[in-house]
Amino acid sequence: MHIDGQCHCGRVTYQAEIDPERVSICHCTDCQTLTGSPYRVTVICSGEQIRIAGKPPKTYAKAGDNGRTRVQHFCPDCGSPLFTSGEGDASNDWGIRWGSIRQHDRLKPRRQIWCRSAAPWINDLAELPGQPTE
Ligand SMILES: [Zn+2]
Ligand SMILES: [Zn+2]
Repeated sequence: MHIDGQCHCGRVTYQAEIDPERVSICHCTDCQTLTGSPYRVTVICSGEQIRIAGKPPKTYAKAGDNGRTRVQHFCPDCGSPLFTSGEGDASNDWGIRWGSIRQHDRLKPRRQIWCRSAAPWINDLAELPGQPTE
């Protein structure tokens, strides 16, 4: 599937060819801190599937709870999370952050990981009162 996306301010843009079956939710504490949200949704792909244009993203690397270093790619101006990549043997293991993808409504998660740190209310959202806008 061909997708395209951008950060919130629009200075970083990209196009990619992805497998819509490889959409994953991560409940790890790093994703919670980096996003400010209870979980993160990412399309898993390889580096050559993505073509980045515009301003080059800024990167930040840190070892996760599994001991592997992950690199976070984000817009240097607006801070929007855009990609993740690995290092060494995993340097071609990339991911695209769901919220930056223009076609994200068509990308449904197929699996979730690090459920042990999931917010305890994560399955209760359907019970909350809701309204279509603020
Ligand atoms: Zn931006
Ligand atoms: Zn995570």
